[in-house]
Amino acid sequence: MSSPENSVSPLAAPVSSVWGVGEERARLLARLDIFTVEDLLLHKPRRYEDRRKFLPIRELKLKEAATVRGKVVAAGTQRFKKSTRAMFECVFDDGSALLHCRWWQAQPWMPDWYAVGREFLIFGKPDSLKPRNMDHPETELVEPGDDEFIHVNRIVPVHPLTEGLTARVMRSLIWRALEKFEGEVLEPVLGTRPSPAAATRLTRNASIKEEDHLHLNLDMAAPDDGRAPLLPTRANAVRMIHFPEELTDVEIARQRLALDEFVELQWQIQSRRKKFEASAKALPCGGDNHLMKPFLTQLGFKLTEAQTKVLREIRTDMGGMHPMRRLLQGDVGSGKTAVAACTALMALESGFNVALMAPTEILAEQHFRNFEKWFAPLGVKVEMQTGSRKSSENGGLKIDDGKRARPSSLDLPSSIFIGTHALFTAGFNLPKLGLVIVDEQHKFGVAQRETLVRKGNYPHLLVMTATPIPRTLGLTLYGDLDVSVIDELPGGRGQIKTFLRTTEKLPKVFAFIREKIAAGRQAYIVYPRADVADTDKDIKAVTKEFGNVKKALSPFQAELLHGRVKPSDKEAVMADFRANKIQVLVATSLIEVGVDVPNASVMLIENAEHFGLAQLHQLRGRIGRGAHESFCILISDARHDEAQSRLKILEETNDGFKIAEADLRLRGPGELLGQQQSGAMRLRFGNLVEDLGLIRQAKEWVAKRF
Ligand code: ADP
Ligand code: MG
Repeated sequence: MSSPENSVSPLAAPVSSVWGVGEERARLLARLDIFTVEDLLLHKPRRYEDRRKFLPIRELKLKEAATVRGKVVAAGTQRFKKSTRAMFECVFDDGSALLHCRWWQAQPWMPDWYAVGREFLIFGKPDSLKPRNMDHPETELVEPGDDEFIHVNRIVPVHPLTEGLTARVMRSLIWRALEKFEGEVLEPVLGTRPSPAAATRLTRNASIKEEDHLHLNLDMAAPDDGRAPLLPTRANAVRMIHFPEELTDVEIARQRLALDEFVELQWQIQSRRKKFEASAKALPCGGDNHLMKPFLTQLGFKLTEAQTKVLREIRTDMGGMHPMRRLLQGDVGSGKTAVAACTALMALESGFNVALMAPTEILAEQHFRNFEKWFAPLGVKVEMQTGSRKSSENGGLKIDDGKRARPSSLDLPSSIFIGTHALFTAGFNLPKLGLVIVDEQHKFGVAQRETLVRKGNYPHLLVMTATPIPRTLGLTLYGDLDVSVIDELPGGRGQIKTFLRTTEKLPKVFAFIREKIAAGRQAYIVYPRADVADTDKDIKAVTKEFGNVKKALSPFQAELLHGRVKPSDKEAVMADFRANKIQVLVATSLIEVGVDVPNASVMLIENAEHFGLAQLHQLRGRIGRGAHESFCILISDARHDEAQSRLKILEETNDGFKIAEADLRLRGPGELLGQQQSGAMRLRFGNLVEDLGLIRQAKEWVAKRF
């Protein structure tokens, strides 16, 4: 938490100001990223032990973790023949029974440490009961008299440690830090605003739904007046997270500290947004429908209600005071491209140019073709700009060196420029840029996104995500954007059925694919790799499997597509596939995003366990785009339960939002965000998987304070 710039909190003092931290311990603590007193106070325990009552050793149960307390009655080191290793064994007695403990890597200090007569607390899981045995338990020396109230007779924290720093020492240091500095743990100050604790009662009247109220309420007695109970103060929460009275205190404290983190995060996000709105003036891009009308007439389908609703939100932004900063979410196949096209038309009608950036060349090509088909009849110029190709000699780009007189909107008809990231490299500066559309996979951080857009003079920005984003990430990672959701798929789509099978079933699966192709359909077959890797021969690769697939499905035509295929060849393959000159595309996940061929109705994915859930959902989104019933077959021999239950989620649901949340739950935010971004949002107590309610509360709370 930041404190006002002009007063430095005593908590910012180096950790060595805690009694007992000398040079050596400071060095050890630094390994755990603990440098200041505050870092130490916020060092989150990794688990807790209830040491108010110990289980008698006699009552230990097989494979059930427990803490017991006993004295060493025997100990010794045993060497193995023909090995440099030695095992250390120690026997503890608590009067009820004996407990054998073994360490398979004896350390030289062990015989002295586990001296006969010393008393220890022992935490672990018995792996046998006859005799009672634990391997590699965690132990803690009990020192008679000293600090009894910190280490025993209470619920004690066990913190993350590093070699040379015991649980007991860490606990003592944190205890001392609390004794000396607890009074300095103040409610966080955001500018001159009161703390979230003080605001908790307000949330009752806020426009938050009932279910989003503080979870903290659950375990706390509600005051008689029926209002929301107060949160613990930050200082209380810090003490409670280390030394709870009851185990239920831990979660209350965690949520309080997490709320502070989310408030800080929202404060940053919303300040940035406010600053932006204060400094950036919007270009008038509301449009006048003179292109939109004929466009919608010749489109060939009617926009869904969801698409129309979203377009109303967008039009308000485009004609508003502040440049649009909007995230367009919608499940695979919900028709985001048509919405992007309509948005582009608003800017074009208003005499501004538009840039559209796609994550891959294949996608840029596809957008280019779509937009050309749609816009050429309207007299709008569509230009292409990727690393490997430009649609016209100078790419149609007017490099604005500042000296040349800008063409007025009436001199030149406005154009849309479509490309990959290459579109936004140095030197690209499009005059009269009114709108930037970014079609992305969770790739850009907030700051990065702004630098892209700044190339122009605060154009409007529409970010489209390839897959739905879990709501927690929507509010944090994309928190500076307004969100529009297309929550409805166009009608007239065939259903997608998903099946999870083992490789044993492949001959049957291929027979099934033949049948579908014979009936006029097309298929994708996807492998995790382009080439076979020496390290893992079990993972199938397109280049190796291609021959087999071709044979299995002849006389139908199959082609290969992966990252190393030349861009011009990629284009040719895609064109042939679209024209049904090729019936089967054998590819890597390259085709994951956005490819749109409605006649393709079968998707076979081998080694499915090697893909993320969101990625598989994207791949599956390549089918089910026409009126035909579609089939997605996931092949996996992975036996472990985790892989199986992960893949089963896809069998069970087609709902991208559910899948995105399951993916976040299973893989954690790091996987989804990439290192850079999850690093930027380092949360000690907040949890981007679980804390939707707290994140919303923080957002509302901060919003009311601007
Ligand atoms: P995504 O949201 O995954 O990017 P697309 O924009 O590629 O989806 O749209 C998927 C398909 O649905 C395309 O073939 C598109 O032409 C079609 N489509 C979009 N909107 C509608 C609609 N309102 N009615 C019928 N088909 C539509
Ligand atoms: Mg798309």
